[in-house]
Amino acid sequence: MEKNGLVKGTWGNASIKDGDKIFITPSGYPYDKMNEDDVMVIDIDGNILEGFRKPSSEYQLHLEIYKNRKDVNAIIHSHPIYSSVVSLVKEYIPPLIEDGVMICGERINVAKYGEPGTKDLALKAVEALEMNYAVILKNHGLVTIGENEIEALTTSIIAEKTAQIYIEALKIGEISELSPQDAKKLREKYLSSYRQKG
Ligand code: 13P
Ligand code: ZN
Repeated sequence: MEKNGLVKGTWGNASIKDGDKIFITPSGYPYDKMNEDDVMVIDIDGNILEGFRKPSSEYQLHLEIYKNRKDVNAIIHSHPIYSSVVSLVKEYIPPLIEDGVMICGERINVAKYGEPGTKDLALKAVEALEMNYAVILKNHGLVTIGENEIEALTTSIIAEKTAQIYIEALKIGEISELSPQDAKKLREKYLSSYRQKG
């Protein structure tokens, strides 16, 4: 996450679901110091099962997504620059570019503002996520999901790339969006055949 410019400082968090266990990063802890002993294990109700640190302050965001999306085993929340810029000025990113539409979904919605670390933020994020793999948090950052951690990380990188393309294009001209039909086709191709299973 840090290497890809998705986070600066200690903000942001990541989790993986394995059966009934959710492995989640500790809150407010530097990424360059973090090792596997710092990762907390919690259950779907937020009870701590293993670990000695505080779990991420956004644990409810992770839990609400897992409760609502049975296709998801990994979640990444980050604070990248271009997605954050979009969150200030737009309500969604329309379908623009192949990779973005394939992996993130037909559009990337901006969720209504919720106070960080609350269930309110979690519910607003779930609502705006719809069936996509990426959602932007208003005045805050980005959340992406995947069948596994590699897919969730790739989705974050591609969502941020899409946000950057969108901001750059807005500066110089009128945006040419993909049609809803073409966007749907790309997304379906990704889900049904492009991505590798496992
Ligand atoms: P952590 O509590 O996981 O450090 O997260 C901070 C944050 O991004 C709050 O939205
Ligand atoms: Zn955050």
